[in-house]
Amino acid sequence: MKVTKAEIVISAVSEKQYPNDRLPEIALAGRSNVGKSSFINTLINRKNLARTSSKPGKTQTLNFYRMNDAFYFVDVPGYGYAKVSKKERQKWGRMMEEYFGKRSSLQAVLLITDIRHEPTSDDLQMYDFLKYYELPVIIVATKLDKISKNKRSHHVKRTGDAFQLEAGDYLLPFSAETGEGKEEAWAILRQFMAL
Ligand code: GDP
Repeated sequence: MKVTKAEIVISAVSEKQYPNDRLPEIALAGRSNVGKSSFINTLINRKNLARTSSKPGKTQTLNFYRMNDAFYFVDVPGYGYAKVSKKERQKWGRMMEEYFGKRSSLQAVLLITDIRHEPTSDDLQMYDFLKYYELPVIIVATKLDKISKNKRSHHVKRTGDAFQLEAGDYLLPFSAETGEGKEEAWAILRQFMAL
């Protein structure tokens, strides 16, 4: 899919700020710094739509990006920073419940992981949380370019085994560096959004 128009519509902290034009939404979740912004930028052929490397400690928001006036990518604040206070974590949890628990226009969630490493307990918890809300999940195992070709199938299998994916979920090896997995990502997203 060719995205010719991409704009941030709102950085929301609560439900009343979410857009209400009912376009289909795809959320992106993942550990901080795992490569969420790079994933979006690769899919839409931009260098810098979503800021890369969002800093810990900055205001945590749900960022709604409208694409071609046809659908939204919703960038969810990353998890897994050791230094976040308990109060911050609770605030993050409430924000996640409010969004994932109730958002009717949400079609599927891209859960971005680092293919070099075994999924973390935070990654697995996030998957379970999303499945609790019966959301379709696409695991995007990114940074594929960092793994040599002969080790790739091992790393893909390790990721799949850790999540024990439910029927209808996907595991997609991806690289923002080389663009591998990009067409496959669009093909999957098109199914969820009937674009
Ligand atoms: P975010 O915090 O999840 O949005 O992560 P970013 O997109 O800012 O990426 C974090 C770092 O990982 C940056 O230095 C990126 O250049 C790098 N990165 C992201 N995706 C890839 C990838 O597929 N391959 C490689 N080699 N580096 C990547």
